Amino acid sequence: MVLANLPIESGPLSRRQNRSVTVRYGQRQVVVGGLAPVVVQSMTNTDTADAIATAIQVKDLARAGSELVRITVNNPEAAAAVVTIREQLDKMGVDVPLVGDFHYNGHKLLLDYPDCAQALSKYRINPGNVGQGAKRDTQFAQMIEVACKYDKPVRIGVNWGSLDQALLARIMDENAQRAQPWDAQSVMYEALVTSAIENAQRAEELGLPGDKIILSCKVSGVQDLIAVYRELARRSDYPLHLGLTEAGMGSKGIVASTAALSVLLQEGIGDTIRISLTPEPGGDRTKEVVVAQEILQTMGLRKFAPMVIACPGCGRTTSTVFQELADKIQTYLRDQMPVWKKQYPGVENMNVAVMGCIVNGPGESKHANIGISLPGTGESPAAPVFVDGEKKITLRGERIAEEFQAIVLDYVKTRYGKEAVQG
Ligand code: SF4
Repeated sequence: MVLANLPIESGPLSRRQNRSVTVRYGQRQVVVGGLAPVVVQSMTNTDTADAIATAIQVKDLARAGSELVRITVNNPEAAAAVVTIREQLDKMGVDVPLVGDFHYNGHKLLLDYPDCAQALSKYRINPGNVGQGAKRDTQFAQMIEVACKYDKPVRIGVNWGSLDQALLARIMDENAQRAQPWDAQSVMYEALVTSAIENAQRAEELGLPGDKIILSCKVSGVQDLIAVYRELARRSDYPLHLGLTEAGMGSKGIVASTAALSVLLQEGIGDTIRISLTPEPGGDRTKEVVVAQEILQTMGLRKFAPMVIACPGCGRTTSTVFQELADKIQTYLRDQMPVWKKQYPGVENMNVAVMGCIVNGPGESKHANIGISLPGTGESPAAPVFVDGEKKITLRGERIAEEFQAIVLDYVKTRYGKEAVQG
């Protein structure tokens, strides 16, 4: 046998050394970059001009755990609604900072609606959608001047679906001068990275401090995103917003986003993330927040809610009892978190195991804070419950789910509660 010379290590590479940007609303401060934890953000899909619907969705996203929420500000009606949205959120006690997403007419909207410019906590500017020709520089400068005036941070958000065509043409011309020209993909990468960095430098020349600038370069291919962000991280020290644009629907969107972001986050690249899922018709927009949190939590980068460890089930479980119990407990724990995180600090570190049979059930349950091993096919109808590695009780009968939930709540109160707190 060969003995290892060093212990086997795990965990991401250390975060890249970069600047930090603080996004503020009232007393709320969200730090992006530096040593701050990776920030979760999301974007609404309501018509921003419908202030009530938008405020409700922002509230839902914030309650689900989104630490910044972006809204599109695409026309005068939307710009006029921003103040009302902010007021509605204030009435609901939601202090999440709002980010305004601007394309084409952002310069005009920010100048014509100063209350909107003031109410937003950050602006996203897409340098490919600022204007054409000579107007481009003027309109970009107007937006940066508004950001300076109101002391707002800006994300220079490049997207390969709307890349600055003049810049792309310049990069292609430069490429043609090379003794060995790059392929089209490399030229595209270079154009994305150059657009982000040159526009950030231009913003600084216009007076926006470097600690007010976040960069992003979104593409829709996993390998493209990884390549572009590695280069962006190598060539700049601005905080980076990560996200796969147009990630897609359902499992495809989740898997593609997770694959791309995990590689980069593991390399210490990325200071804030958004998962651009296409919702199912009538689907819940907060899913993108849950997925973002689960990526960060399963990678061990942040803790948001207790983890439920459940086995996949197999032929040893012919009923759906344990799947239903795992789902019920997971939903219950997540639903409680807005209140629990205040009442029971540290509860997000809890692990709960819900296992289908005796093969791995007791072992996995002992590793968790609380675990239950349900009876598989042919086993006696008993479900031992383990608390902190010790078998505490065996549940039987029709009310196993309710009794297990009560045990979990009791554990949370005892382990994480303060005496004065009532659950
Ligand atoms: S714990 Fe039991 S039911 Fe679950 S996957 Fe393993 S063998 Fe199957």
